[in-house]
Amino acid sequence: MPRPIEALVHTDALAHNLARARAQAPNARVWAVVKANAYGHGIERAFDGLRAADGFALLDLAEAERLRALDWRGPILLLEGVFEPRDLELCSRLKLWHAVHCEQQIDWLAMHKTHEPHRVFLKLNSGMNRLGFTPAAFRAAYARLEALPQVDEIGLMTHFSDADSLRRGADGIAHQLAAFQAATEGLAGERTIANSAATLRHAPRTTEDWVRAGIMVYGGVPDFPEHDAAHWDLRPAMTLRSRLIGVQQLQPGDTVGYGSAFTAEQPTRIGVVACGYADGYPRHAPTGTPVLVDGQRTRTLGRVSMDMLAVDLTALPASGWGSEVTLWGEGPRGSRLPIDEVAQAAGTIGYELMCAVAPRVPVRCA
Ligand SMILES: *Cc1c(COP(=O)(O)O)cnc(C)c1O
Repeated sequence: MPRPIEALVHTDALAHNLARARAQAPNARVWAVVKANAYGHGIERAFDGLRAADGFALLDLAEAERLRALDWRGPILLLEGVFEPRDLELCSRLKLWHAVHCEQQIDWLAMHKTHEPHRVFLKLNSGMNRLGFTPAAFRAAYARLEALPQVDEIGLMTHFSDADSLRRGADGIAHQLAAFQAATEGLAGERTIANSAATLRHAPRTTEDWVRAGIMVYGGVPDFPEHDAAHWDLRPAMTLRSRLIGVQQLQPGDTVGYGSAFTAEQPTRIGVVACGYADGYPRHAPTGTPVLVDGQRTRTLGRVSMDMLAVDLTALPASGWGSEVTLWGEGPRGSRLPIDEVAQAAGTIGYELMCAVAPRVPVRCA
């Protein structure tokens, strides 16, 4: 028998969450963002649930090839554009749209030989200070692109740093929105500025022509804990589950795992789960991280080790060897453990947990 851990990808939840993005932005088209192997869900599996998207956005050219191999003929956008000149050949061949965020990428386009001109999205650095032309350089870059026979339509894009929070006040996107409007005023082209957080929290100001929905289509919440998945009506697209492969009875003073990080203060029954950090479960999840056993909520105990972790069974007398354990996602009998809660306990975000599920974990569609 294989080790009992597995990840399930819920294609119906992907379709539901995609519909949620559409409902938030009824006048926009929706790019399902499938970078990082569809946030760990697998491009091919995610495609099953997301085929109603208007396009797919990603950044790895090999992933774009995998999408075309699935016979997806619609738009594919490379969010970071090309990394070297010969990538443009693949863009021509596979009809990929690509972001243009720096002068080098325009230089490469100017030297590129292609029969069909490319569709590009010129990226503005409106304050995130990651990729993009400054507002001062933006119009000159637009003019350069416009003059190139290699370029067809030019779209306009930017990315928010604080669409998910109140860190910059009640309206953390206003300064970037104003920068984008000023830099692009009067320029022709489709606009795309919203990620999931902006789509959920700032529609319709941000939704324009295209939205780029990432975490929300996977059922992760960009602004947890201010809001949760129930608030936004998002369903988990991934379940990580395993089983108990051991049970121990602790007496007061007994400890659990490496570093004796948990000490029992009373008689405590614990279960040992076939899941550890080598499966992608966060090693920094402390004692008390939520977990479901047979669909009932309990907590982890002690340090997460490479292949195992321990859970508290004291309040679950009917559970024991072989019991089903839900690390996150959908549990038995309608139970559910949001990935955001596990991530928060471990000091990270749902995005990282999804992306970190290890290759040794078998994944299947459910
Ligand atoms: C990853 C990414 C997104 C999607 O972000 P979410 O927060 O997952 O919705 C959108 N736009 C760009 C440029 C990205 O890199």
